[in-house]
Amino acid sequence: MKRNLTIGIDVGATTIKGGVVDIVESKILSQQKVDTFALRGPSAVLQQLNLIIKELMLEYRYDEFTGIGIGAPGIVDNDNSTVKNPPNFTDWTEVNLGEVIKKEFNLPVVVENDANAAALGEAKFGAGIDYQNFLFIIWGTGVGGGIILDNKIYRGPFGGAGEIGHTTIDYNGPLCNCGNRGCIESYIGQRYLSERTRQKLEQLPKEAPQSKIIQLVKGNLGLIEPYIISVAAEQGDPFAKEILSEAGNLLGVAIASILNVLDLRIVVVGGGISAAGEYVFNAITKSVRSRVLTSIKPDVKVIPAKLGNTAGIFGAASLVINK
Ligand SMILES: [Zn+2]
Repeated sequence: MKRNLTIGIDVGATTIKGGVVDIVESKILSQQKVDTFALRGPSAVLQQLNLIIKELMLEYRYDEFTGIGIGAPGIVDNDNSTVKNPPNFTDWTEVNLGEVIKKEFNLPVVVENDANAAALGEAKFGAGIDYQNFLFIIWGTGVGGGIILDNKIYRGPFGGAGEIGHTTIDYNGPLCNCGNRGCIESYIGQRYLSERTRQKLEQLPKEAPQSKIIQLVKGNLGLIEPYIISVAAEQGDPFAKEILSEAGNLLGVAIASILNVLDLRIVVVGGGISAAGEYVFNAITKSVRSRVLTSIKPDVKVIPAKLGNTAGIFGAASLVINK
């Protein structure tokens, strides 16, 4: 029997992940990953994309494939094909990625921003399946997101909607990558959170009990990253738990503003750091509830994403079907 297979590709700054997805069965049949080579320029990245797609297609019949969906960082134009200024990609201002891949494989190709693709993945196959409207947050290296309205991604008139990481929570706050001050990302993005944790550890009074974080990095505070903080928290370390609860509280400040503007009630949170556990979700929920308008308050729900790092692959694959 002929199946309807779709290829879903998730382009990251270091790795390109891809899968062959059977949409009807909601299953990833096989997966591959390759290096992105983002620092070598667009042609190197395109070569890697070709490579992973070829590898993925190898085990299947060509006529079973209905198309290729690609999630990429940066802003994706309304043509769902052109990718503009992906951060950490050398010499990449504007590349019509979709057209290049389409020529190579002679299949329909749909490109979408990576966070939007992950949001769509959760909407169709994951935590958002029961909700027509929700805010999706991906909390990892940065803070990204997607807005799902009526089961569709809200892209904005120019394709750039959903930049939740640059919601200001303090107009005098720390300088952010984007040039603005006090964005939520400049508090809880991977690099910023690690740095703040290091500073706080250094400021702890000598007689305070030693945090597990210090043991986990063997005394080298330069090695602190959110993953380490969440491992320490899981082991019951009160300092690590406090760091993550505080980060959750701050994220809640940003989320509350967005819910108020969009009249949304449901928030799905995914990404590496969100795997840290219940106390992070409790902190986010408490913070959001205390700040949203009264009309929204009783219905607010903050729920963990379900698909982990396969959300991007599922979402990218489903782009083809939605077109
Ligand atoms: Zn910013």
